[in-house]
Amino acid sequence: MPVKITFWGVRGSIPCCSAEHTVYGGNTSCVEVDLDGETVVIDAGSGIRALGISLAKRSINRVTMLVSHTHWDHICGFPFFYPAFQETANLNIHAARLPNGQTAEEVFGVLMSEPFFPLPMHMIPSVLHFHDFKPSESFSLFDGRAALRTRPLTHPNGATGYRLDYQGKSVSYISDYEHSSPAGVAELVDFVADSDLMIFDAMYTPLEYESFKGWGHSTWREAARLTQMANVKKTALFHHAPLHTDDIMRQIEQDAKNADPRLFAAREGQSLIL
Ligand SMILES: [Zn+2]
Ligand SMILES: [Zn+2]
Repeated sequence: MPVKITFWGVRGSIPCCSAEHTVYGGNTSCVEVDLDGETVVIDAGSGIRALGISLAKRSINRVTMLVSHTHWDHICGFPFFYPAFQETANLNIHAARLPNGQTAEEVFGVLMSEPFFPLPMHMIPSVLHFHDFKPSESFSLFDGRAALRTRPLTHPNGATGYRLDYQGKSVSYISDYEHSSPAGVAELVDFVADSDLMIFDAMYTPLEYESFKGWGHSTWREAARLTQMANVKKTALFHHAPLHTDDIMRQIEQDAKNADPRLFAAREGQSLIL
């Protein structure tokens, strides 16, 4: 079981709690990638709350966190991430510097400060290390056993795409992202090429997208195009729009599968082994 992916939050923009968001889930972006016992968490949306409880039950104290960007839906769960409040926990948080020069550490510091939150970040007892980088830098993780590549994504205020390679398996995370120029798409094709799993921002239907150009999100049609161009083995549609109830999501997933059977709509709680 070299690589196991679990979706803890698949929704975009804001958590949705309703009877119509039970099948696909209402929590925002959070994905766990288990690499033979090393835990990587991508994004700290509201889904990270339940992940934190699960990690504690599994006695996992060492977490590598990758933050795509600091829009609310990707960081709002961090103040409720149980391991952050444990002295025994060691959290390595990787995030690209924002286009305005701010670091994620500064943004997290604001998130966890009055009047937004009662406990300032410097008071939380876990060991926190922030790793600040420029998008497109590459890293090796876990004593060279895993390779981490990054690239900037087209999105308001910027976002970072990630690709993890481990023992011949690869997972790419492309959220939040709006398909742009042919040159930009070609660069992304190289980045995600031959991924075993690509997690892709498909917030809008192709019809909705016509009204939301420039908002920084993409569609299942673009997911299918990229899957085909980059020879991706499996693609998870991700960052579902809050208005997309379970009924709408079922239709979106069917339309996407008709375009390419390698596509599926990620569901909260779903796990995959690569
Ligand atoms: Zn988002
Ligand atoms: Zn965003």
